[in-house]
Amino acid sequence: MEKLEKIKSQNRTAEAKLSIVIPVYQEGSHIRKSIEVIEGVLITNQIPYEFVLVDDGSRDNTWSELKNMAEHNENINALRLSRNFGKESALCAGLEFAQGDMILVMDSDLQHPPSLIPEMVKAWIEEGYDVVEGIKSARGRENVLYKLCAKVFYYIIYKTADINLGQASDYKLMDRKVLEAWKEMPERATFFRGMSAWLGFDRKQISFEVADRASGKTKWSILRLMRLAVNAITSYTSVPLHCITVLGILMFIGAIILGIQTLYMYFSHKAMNGFTTVILLQLIVGSSIMISLGMIGIYLTKIYKEVKSRPRYLVSNCIRGGEKK
Ligand code: UDP
Ligand code: MG
Repeated sequence: MEKLEKIKSQNRTAEAKLSIVIPVYQEGSHIRKSIEVIEGVLITNQIPYEFVLVDDGSRDNTWSELKNMAEHNENINALRLSRNFGKESALCAGLEFAQGDMILVMDSDLQHPPSLIPEMVKAWIEEGYDVVEGIKSARGRENVLYKLCAKVFYYIIYKTADINLGQASDYKLMDRKVLEAWKEMPERATFFRGMSAWLGFDRKQISFEVADRASGKTKWSILRLMRLAVNAITSYTSVPLHCITVLGILMFIGAIILGIQTLYMYFSHKAMNGFTTVILLQLIVGSSIMISLGMIGIYLTKIYKEVKSRPRYLVSNCIRGGEKK
């Protein structure tokens, strides 16, 4: 009930505060500049704001930079996680900390153009949208393998969970009530893009071209991306498990047909030495059983991890804006 009151009393005016949540990992070389650029856009457009910068356990000078910025600027809050938990967890930390009426999530490398912020805020204030999401019109510079993997992954998600993530990005503005709804989701292993698609609400999409990285290089190795993909697919849908059942049914039908044929051959004394058939059947049945077990295993591990319900992240340090001023 209290929550409903909160939703109703919200005011979509130019005074509404924008929280900008940015996960930062090993970006010490350019983070200060990136934040200055974003801040410049906000100041020019007179948008009240606060930054929530989350250092995802970087080992370079990222934290000292964030600390310094937060100590001298009352609009910048800095959180430091106890180790590298990954972007998804860092995002969680930032989202849970954010206080604003609307919350914007973006990357720290200026690949999400800050010039779009005024348009997003306007869509929230004037057009009343609850979620304004950035859609990648071009994926920026990526290698062929990466592009192919991304394609396959999005196709699987689209076909199995009926959610089109193809051009989705983590560049998103959310209303406070959407964030509150998001916080209700209890899973430990989060996939922000997918979860926010699941939430629904009135959405507007704004397309943008992915800029080149400010500097440094991407933190996502192919292995990490694959982990993210498996996590995303399995947390979305149980279709892989149903595939096993369908496969079983198909093989059962095959078994009946082959069984009848075999028996017929046997009783009509025409049975040949079906060595090849036996070998093939062994191989097919064996491998499908192993793949199926593997798939069940993936879900099992997920359940195990969720049941353990460890915290999504641990904060080792937190500096609220302008503490030293
Ligand atoms: N990031 C993070 N933890 C990680 C990896 C990345 O917080 O373990 C942050 C990173 O600092 C950046 C954002 O996630 O703000 C996107 O990362 P990156 O630019 O490396 O990914 P890409 O843009 O290539 O998808
Ligand atoms: Mg990037």
